[in-house]
Amino acid sequence: MLRRIPYGDHDLILTLFTPDHGKISVFAKSARKDARRFSGTLEPLSVLKVVLKTRSGNLSLLSEAVLVDPLATIRTDLRKTAYASYWSEIAGIVPEEGAVQKPNGYPLLHQALTALDRDMMDKAVLHVLFQLKFTRLSGFFPELTHCQTCRTHLDDVSPRGLAVDILSGGLICGDCVSRTLGPYRLSKGAVKILLWLETADILKASRIRFTRDLLEECACFLEAFLPHHLGHAPRSLVFLKHIRNRKKEGCSYHVG
Ligand SMILES: [Zn+2]
Repeated sequence: MLRRIPYGDHDLILTLFTPDHGKISVFAKSARKDARRFSGTLEPLSVLKVVLKTRSGNLSLLSEAVLVDPLATIRTDLRKTAYASYWSEIAGIVPEEGAVQKPNGYPLLHQALTALDRDMMDKAVLHVLFQLKFTRLSGFFPELTHCQTCRTHLDDVSPRGLAVDILSGGLICGDCVSRTLGPYRLSKGAVKILLWLETADILKASRIRFTRDLLEECACFLEAFLPHHLGHAPRSLVFLKHIRNRKKEGCSYHVG
């Protein structure tokens, strides 16, 4: 469940993210009036098995809900809540008309939330990993192995002035960067982490230790790149940045 909103005095409207139908809203009648009705299962960011009754012209009616996994630590740890809210919002974005492809983000989101809840790996690495995998699913993964203008390979370009063109998603070397509008500066180390993590799974990535600064650089780049290509500025990103700034982990890399 992504969200629940009170409706009247007795009911709830729930936003669910489903494996087969993406994001849907359902009506949970009397869920607030009678706590036993769904016996405390309707917690945001938990995994549920539900039975719905479809109604023509109305929201489907929730008739049964069984708690599969409470993912409880996500609701009690503010940083985990911030990450989970952002990932859920990203995964639930309905692509604009003409989008490259319509990603099914459910398996990835489920896997990432489970790893976050169980502390299976560093949250900051998981954050980069989730965004990278979702970028790939959505079909607009940045081309990071060559300069998009002069085609020089990443291994051969100078680390000075390296950037990514957010619009085209292509790497630009320091020699070509002056001919690009709005380049996003990225260090060579960060580009290499992005390329490495893109091929890694959670298990493999959890065994590697990354430099904190480079990870932050990767995270901040993806937080600019992904919403731009999804055509949507996630509201939960403001919350995530706020939580991170409190921990002195703000983004210090900017466009330009
Ligand atoms: Zn170049």
